[in-house]
Amino acid sequence: MTRQFTYSGSPAHIVFGNGSSSQVAVWIERLGCRRALVLSTPHQAGDGEALAKKLGALAVGTFAGAAMHTPVEVTETALAKVRDVNADCVVALGGGSTTGLGKAIAYRTDLPQIVIPTTYAGSEVTPILGQTETGVKTTVRDAKILPEVVIYDPELTVGLPVAMSITSGLNAMAHAAEALYAQDRNPVSTLMAAEGLRALKQALPVLIEEPKNLAARGDALYGAWLCGTVLGTVGMALHHKICHTLGGSFDMPHAETHAVMLPHTIAFNAVAVPELLKPVVDIFGGSAGGGLHDFAKSVGAPLTLKELGLKQTDLDRAAELATKNPYWNPRPFDRAAIRALLQDAWEGRRPQH
Ligand code: NAD
Repeated sequence: MTRQFTYSGSPAHIVFGNGSSSQVAVWIERLGCRRALVLSTPHQAGDGEALAKKLGALAVGTFAGAAMHTPVEVTETALAKVRDVNADCVVALGGGSTTGLGKAIAYRTDLPQIVIPTTYAGSEVTPILGQTETGVKTTVRDAKILPEVVIYDPELTVGLPVAMSITSGLNAMAHAAEALYAQDRNPVSTLMAAEGLRALKQALPVLIEEPKNLAARGDALYGAWLCGTVLGTVGMALHHKICHTLGGSFDMPHAETHAVMLPHTIAFNAVAVPELLKPVVDIFGGSAGGGLHDFAKSVGAPLTLKELGLKQTDLDRAAELATKNPYWNPRPFDRAAIRALLQDAWEGRRPQH
């Protein structure tokens, strides 16, 4: 029986398809803007410059300083540039780090954002901003943070290295897997989550063999959009709490940490809500956590926290921090349960459930 639910659609414009990034100028004008600042990381500075050049007079500058976890100092330097060039919108070209910088600027100025994602992180469709100041990561949620326009162009993702494509794809899948049991889930979020998992499960193995396969790149980006959308619309639970703890307090790499933790957190929750995780079993086979582990192994994803550099001696503190101010979770837990779960993830054991 369908349970009670509330549903709110995202007000963002989504533009999808090969070559769609040629429409940036059209969307700048549709937003009523004329002076875009193009954002990127230092690594993608060349792509940012090339986009600015294509935009001609509609681009008034570039800022290539975006960094992981949105440091407030970087945002302040970018804001000075926004004021300097009198920008009236930002165009973020890149992964979650660049999207994060655009969101941080919009949060402070309410400037409209156009995002052109080049990874599968999913940040571009959420009203959530995580930022760091003096080593502390805080998260804010605000309507101003949600980008107005997202342009998904699979052609821009063919250069995403295979290893990053895999971990980024698993990062996206983690949003969908947790959305399936979210307390505030609704029929649409569940459909999107299952379809996002299916699309990424189909695409990632193809990308290993053929990184430039545009159909598979399109499927992966489509999956990323769906997974990101559910991240933005329903609450996340234990998996995201543990990953935020490991990223924020132990400086663990974002997408890789999600990839390693996913089978373990889903197996842990599968004990409590097997019926809600049935789409995971249907898509990956086996048990929910076991199927995800087998899939991650088959696509060459990292399987252990150990190989990501976490020390075994950090696991006690990680368990303590991850159980402080816990997010809602379908299965109750205590510090000892999370310590055991982290040990399994550190060693990369195949989960039973
Ligand atoms: P990233 O944006 O840090 O990218 C990693 C590196 O890959 C960067 O150097 C980037 O320039 C490069 N890169 C990106 N796309 C490329 C491409 N197509 N080809 C070659 N190089 C490319 O990594 P990410 O995993 O996309 O984002 C992680 C960040 O996003 C974290 O800070 C995380 O907290 C945040 N995030 C936020 C949300 C949210 O809703 N607020 C959601 C997901 C992730």
